[in-house]
Amino acid sequence: MPLLPRRFERLKAVLKCRMADLTVLVEHVEKPHNLSAILRSCDAVGVLEAHAICKRGKTSTFNSTAQGSQKWVKLHEHSNIESAVKALKEKGFKLYGTNLGIEAKDYRKCKFTGPTAFVLGAEKWGLSEYATNLMDQSIFIPMRGMVQSLNVSVAGATLLFEALRQRQEEKLVPESGEGLTRELYEQTIFEWAYPEVAEWCKYKGRGYPKLNELGEILEVLPRTIKLPH
Ligand code: SAM
Repeated sequence: MPLLPRRFERLKAVLKCRMADLTVLVEHVEKPHNLSAILRSCDAVGVLEAHAICKRGKTSTFNSTAQGSQKWVKLHEHSNIESAVKALKEKGFKLYGTNLGIEAKDYRKCKFTGPTAFVLGAEKWGLSEYATNLMDQSIFIPMRGMVQSLNVSVAGATLLFEALRQRQEEKLVPESGEGLTRELYEQTIFEWAYPEVAEWCKYKGRGYPKLNELGEILEVLPRTIKLPH
């Protein structure tokens, strides 16, 4: 069953603008509307993947605020901050912990054109001291009002759009797929176009079938798998 060509073109166009070197890591942000709003900002800016630390046995939930962004920004869930930080550092990310302490730097004085991960803290308690100590740099968004902090999703959006602005200024924003590897591009386009088949492949422990330039699957699959139309 072919995917509508216009739909496939749109998926490709959006994916070609995605950046694998800009991400967020959220530590115990628990309210579904906040996580949803953060992912929606990630989608808007062109973030490929996001990360979250989840409480044991609990998976992240989203609400209508996400407007479906959770389908377009893959969320990697980690059981603890150490493993998340290790995974990001191994990929070369500089970790910016958001922190309202005096040692934090004004975010407008930082350069976010290299691999950048913004680490956001829980609604009530902020980023844990433990996580803060694992960061490369603490940053804050200056506040001029009576209230000391922003909503976490607003802070996330402010930082993400600043990173985008800096990258646009330096003409570093991808337009033709240069923001992610070929392998990631092929994997993601398949997951976006055929989420049910992708799930089935994962369940079967097999790779994704190849697609042709129209987005058609070049393989005969069991009839029981639901395909989009
Ligand atoms: N009482 C908490 C504290 O002292 O950190 C406030 C937590 S704030 C509501 C939740 C999260 O939003 C923070 O951990 C941080 O990630 C982000 N945030 C809010 N305001 C911020 C600001 N002005 N600068 C940087 N991050 C901010």
